[in-house]
Amino acid sequence: MKPHTPAIGVLALQGAFDVHALRLAELGADATLVRKPGQLAELDALVIPGGESTTFLKHLERSGFYEALNEFVHSKPVFGTCAGCILLASEVTNPHQRSLGVLDIDVERNAYGRQNDSSILTTETSLPGGPLEMVFIRAPRITRIASGIQVLARRDDSPVLVRQGRILASTFHPELSDDPRVHQLFLDIVQSSTT
Ligand code: GLN
Repeated sequence: MKPHTPAIGVLALQGAFDVHALRLAELGADATLVRKPGQLAELDALVIPGGESTTFLKHLERSGFYEALNEFVHSKPVFGTCAGCILLASEVTNPHQRSLGVLDIDVERNAYGRQNDSSILTTETSLPGGPLEMVFIRAPRITRIASGIQVLARRDDSPVLVRQGRILASTFHPELSDDPRVHQLFLDIVQSSTT
């Protein structure tokens, strides 16, 4: 039997969604842009892209999307990048804001100051295949992680790519580098939780 191709949504309310969808499609996934809460029912997994988490929250709350998304992230594989990571966290500071609380980490928004607003670093990762390029744009810093969460890459001493079971999160933008390993890891997580 042909393996089931998981349906992966990319939340497309705001921010950097197109490039995620493109990358997922290049890796053979069935990627859909998600603009309405009703679409979630047809999906096996979801990417919450980078952007501005406060703007995401406004859109989500206005359209009755927040509750549907909350339910989804508590049961299906989800990959949050940058603002997406902020939305998934337990606690958000600088300033405090509402979050889905499905990933047991605390994050500080815009934590690298104006000088380092955006930067591209290449560092070690525990993903196979050597160092990983990471594009940071007004990135948050993960200031606490629960024990048992897997740290796959760090910037200085802070985790920047973490996995808690079916939840994957990065404080950088893997869709902006040519390296497909982070998206591939998410597809592997999705595949193993849908089979
Ligand atoms: N600074 C944004 C926020 O706090 C995140 C930036 C990003 O997603 N690139 O929501």
